[in-house]
Amino acid sequence: MQKNKKFLAFDIGGTKIACSIISEQGELLGPVHKFDTPKTIEGINQLLKSLISQHENRIDAVAIATAGTVSQDRKQIISSVGNMAAGYHETNFQSLSNKPVILENDANAAAWAEYKLGAGKHYKNLLVIAIGTGVGLGIIIEGKLLKGKSGAAAEAHFPINHGHIRRCTCGAYDCYEIYASGTALSLDAKSAYGDDSKNSHDVIKGVKQHNHVAIEIFDNWQNNVLAGLYGLVNLFDPEAVVLFGSLVEFMDIEKLERETNKIVLTPPVKIYRAELGNNAAMIGASLIAAEELRKHPHYA
Ligand SMILES: [Zn+2]
Repeated sequence: MQKNKKFLAFDIGGTKIACSIISEQGELLGPVHKFDTPKTIEGINQLLKSLISQHENRIDAVAIATAGTVSQDRKQIISSVGNMAAGYHETNFQSLSNKPVILENDANAAAWAEYKLGAGKHYKNLLVIAIGTGVGLGIIIEGKLLKGKSGAAAEAHFPINHGHIRRCTCGAYDCYEIYASGTALSLDAKSAYGDDSKNSHDVIKGVKQHNHVAIEIFDNWQNNVLAGLYGLVNLFDPEAVVLFGSLVEFMDIEKLERETNKIVLTPPVKIYRAELGNNAAMIGASLIAAEELRKHPHYA
């Protein structure tokens, strides 16, 4: 019988790096360790290298969910956004380990986990919208993750507004990401309260206290999430959409589903909250790494 594979999984984001050991079935086999993301490439490499060297002898591969777009062969980053250290996309991840190192974009990895084990497990056509500092998308069509020609597909950078109102992290104006992310909710809070010190946390605090100003800010923001949702559902005709991220807890999922289905041209779509929580990206990266090893037994 073949031995059950184990992965050292990472979730590398702009503020935190999380790491754990995960089985090929996606079970956590140890605690999750979290670190502040170092500000330099050298710092990131050093941290990864030291964690990998501690665990290398008891794992089969390193599975990394990362900010930035990831190549078709899952070996390198094609481009990364402004919140990672400059030059991050040039990192040679394979040089950090003697075991195979397999990468996937964090939203794609979380989407794959929700598709395999979470809220999307009954569907073959699934859209996952990860709402965090930015907005990440994962698109699964007929059981396959949409990667595009290079691997960079499913970025939430398409305009949902016009008039050069908000500059997005990608450099363009008025993208979905800059209206439907946590960052967007903070911008909404600053302008609605007329106070630059306000952010998304103040809105959530107000929502919890049933404050009507906070509820209105949150509802307007939720309508922006909805604005992109229509288009995405019309484009991809998924059976279900899974919303992922800490703000989703406060969203009115039934309303989003009802409003979406009033407008879309496709047959009705189901909308769910994600089920796997904060470790979804690491779990998804491990499931993807397990598949890569099955496809390429001599992976290197
Ligand atoms: Zn953008």
